[in-house]
Amino acid sequence: LLQLYGPLNFLGSVYSAIRTAMVDLEHMFGLIEEHVEVADPEHPLPIATRLAESAPAEVEFRDVRFGYGPEREILHGVSFVAAPGKKVAIVGSTGAGKSTISRLLFRFYDVWDGAVLVDGHDVRDYRQKDLRAAIGVVPQDTVLFNESIGYNIAYGRLGATPAEVEQAARLAQIHDFIQSLPDGYQTQVGERGLKLSGGEKQRVAIARTLLKDPRVLVLDEATSALDTHTEQEIQAALKAVSASRTTLVIAHRLSTIVDADEILVMGHGRVLERGTHEALLAAGGQYAAMWAAQGAEGIAERMVG
Ligand code: ATP
Repeated sequence: LLQLYGPLNFLGSVYSAIRTAMVDLEHMFGLIEEHVEVADPEHPLPIATRLAESAPAEVEFRDVRFGYGPEREILHGVSFVAAPGKKVAIVGSTGAGKSTISRLLFRFYDVWDGAVLVDGHDVRDYRQKDLRAAIGVVPQDTVLFNESIGYNIAYGRLGATPAEVEQAARLAQIHDFIQSLPDGYQTQVGERGLKLSGGEKQRVAIARTLLKDPRVLVLDEATSALDTHTEQEIQAALKAVSASRTTLVIAHRLSTIVDADEILVMGHGRVLERGTHEALLAAGGQYAAMWAAQGAEGIAERMVG
C-alpha cells in the first residue's frame, strides 16, 4: 500500500492542477455555476479569425432579448452596430447587462429573440471554436498559468516564434519589465513563482491578445483604480491592442472612452442613451451626470493621493 502512495499522490496533484486550470478558465468568463449547451450548426460558415489575414469584423446586436433563466428577461431588445475597426463603449450601473452583452457575443448563451451578428451573419451560423478564435478578450482579472511568463504570452497563439512573443510584449509595454527579471521570459509566474501586480498581469493579457490577433476585441475594464503611472502604461498597451480592431469596451471609468465612436449608456437591460462623448455631454442626460460625478471623484482621488 505504501508503494502505491507515491503514484496516487502524484495523480492527485495532476488532477488538482487540471481542475484548477479548468476552473480558472470558467472563472474568467463568470461561468462557474452554469453549464449551458449551445450547439454547432450542421453546416458552419467559415470565419476569418486573425486581423493580419483579413479586415476587422463587423459586430451587430439586432433587437436582442435574453435572460439566463425563463423567469427573468435581462436584455429587453438591445441594438447597436460596431462597424469594422470602430470602438463601441458600454457603460451603466451595476447589473445593467454590460457583461451579458459580451457573453452573448462569445455565444456562451443563445438569445431568446433578435440576433447577434458578426460579419453580417448570425453567430449561430459559425462553429463556436471559430467564433471564439476571432474574438479576443482582455478580462478584468487575468488568470495566469503556473508556467513561464513567456508561455503565458505565447498561449495567445501557440506556435508563435520567440521574436513574435517579444514583439507582442514590447507593444504591451511589458518587455522591459520581463527583461529585468532574473530569468527573463523563462521566469515562472503564479503559485510556484513570481507574483505579478494587477497592472502587470493585465499587460501580460494584452500581450497574449496581441499575439492572438483577433478581429474583434472585448475589453472588460478593471474597476479598481490604478496609480497614474501604471494607468498610463496600461492605456498605451490598450491603444496598441485596439488599434484598427473592432472593439467593445465594458467601461467603468469614463475617462478611458472619450474617444469611442459610440457610447451606449445601459440601464436595466436597455440602451438609455447613445452617442459620442461630446454629443452625450451636450444632451445633458444620464451620461452627462455620470461624467460630472466621476470628474468630481477624480479630483477627490487626486487630492487624497
Ligand atoms: P457589473 O457592472 O456589476 O459587472 P453588468 O452590467 O455587467 O454589471 P451583468 O453581469 O450583465 O451586469 O448582469 C445583468 C443581470 O443579469 C444582473 O441582474 C445579474 O444579476 C444577472 N445575471 C448575470 N449573470 C447571471 C447568471 N449567470 N445567472 C442569472 N442571472 C445572471
